[in-house]
Amino acid sequence: MSKIAFIGLGNMGGPMALNLVKGGHDLTVHDLVPASIQAATAAGARAAASAREAVAGAEVVISMLPASQHVEKLYLGDGLLQAIDAAALVIECSTIAPDSARKVAAAAQARGIAMIDAPVSGGTGGAVAGTLTFIVGGDAAALERGRPILEKMGKNIFHAGAAGAGQVAKICNNMLLGILMAGTSEALALGVANGLDPAVLSDIIAKSSGRNWATELYNPWPGVMPQAPASKEYAGGFGTDLMLKDLGLAAEAALSTRSATPLGELARNLYALHSGAGHGKLDFSSIVKLYQAKR
Ligand code: NAD
Repeated sequence: MSKIAFIGLGNMGGPMALNLVKGGHDLTVHDLVPASIQAATAAGARAAASAREAVAGAEVVISMLPASQHVEKLYLGDGLLQAIDAAALVIECSTIAPDSARKVAAAAQARGIAMIDAPVSGGTGGAVAGTLTFIVGGDAAALERGRPILEKMGKNIFHAGAAGAGQVAKICNNMLLGILMAGTSEALALGVANGLDPAVLSDIIAKSSGRNWATELYNPWPGVMPQAPASKEYAGGFGTDLMLKDLGLAAEAALSTRSATPLGELARNLYALHSGAGHGKLDFSSIVKLYQAKR
């Protein structure tokens, strides 16, 4: 049993923290939104009034925040690294810019603190079920220290390379996911406009060569999959603005290496239009609304 501080209890961090409590760990949690803390404290975690209070005496610190600026502000701007025990391990699970991950890891290392970037894949369903994929960057020895804890929240753990490499792999994955969700939406809308039932078409694609994560687990059309955000008015899940952030990170990575990512850029523009239309807080599968707009 480890003494763990968990910071950021949103759609992903909330259920991840619950799995650690269920796994017998001693958890102290913190989020800026008090209501987000309730499920964790009801399950037996201790609430901390600040991130500094949460990390006091922690052997492991886990963070699950929205974006690079939140992570840099927490660890560097607010100086949280100064409050973390030098013997502790920091596991940063947010999806952020590889350069931000490297910057914070270097500052941690300067204090003798081991840190890995460990962004996740698998969505809120995977976070609840404890079946996430962790894509880790950093020292192999630090990953081995964190592995028993990651195993309580996920079932696949990959070591992508040095600090920041987990983020690079995650950004590539999410660029593809953004493209696939938009493409799946486009195909379903085309079928429906031509008289097909979206559930029948989804069944056909799920067993044919166009199948993908969206048709198997996360269908964007309302009513096709009762457990998917599409059937819950796109509440919870993975926000459109978070997908837009990830496609922006992919664009930055492409610019810095002069890589061509025409489909990733097109997808980024589609999600930007969708967010601009006021849908930024809805799950990203609501991109299907762009295609359902009345002609
Ligand atoms: P979210 O917006 O639901 O949760 C983020 C939480 O962080 C919020 O509860 C917020 O109050 C809290 N927070 C922000 N700043 C804080 C601070 N300084 N101290 C304490 N708490 C703070 O986001 P999410 O969907 O849980 O995603 C978190 C990260 O995981 C993002 O980087 C996202 O891209 C990534 N991700 C999300 C999914 C998904 O399906 N939702 C899947 C994979 C990866």
